[in-house]
Amino acid sequence: MMATFRFCPKCGTLASADARTCGRCGAKLPAPARAAPEAIPNPNRVILTWAVYIVAAIGGFLLLGVVFVLALTYLFR
Ligand SMILES: [Zn+2]
Repeated sequence: MMATFRFCPKCGTLASADARTCGRCGAKLPAPARAAPEAIPNPNRVILTWAVYIVAAIGGFLLLGVVFVLALTYLFR
């Protein structure tokens, strides 16, 4: 894990990543800047998204086929 350093918004002192308050002026430091999980490209997520798309497409085609066959059997009985 990479150590991230922040600056105090009040006095500009460098504060360690896990510090909650500034060591010099005591000002409350903002929450450690962490990259949002959504911002990090996740190959598993991409694969899962594509799997969902493919399954949805196949399911849609199957449903369409079933509806089509049912409509044909209804029309030509
Ligand atoms: Zn400070």
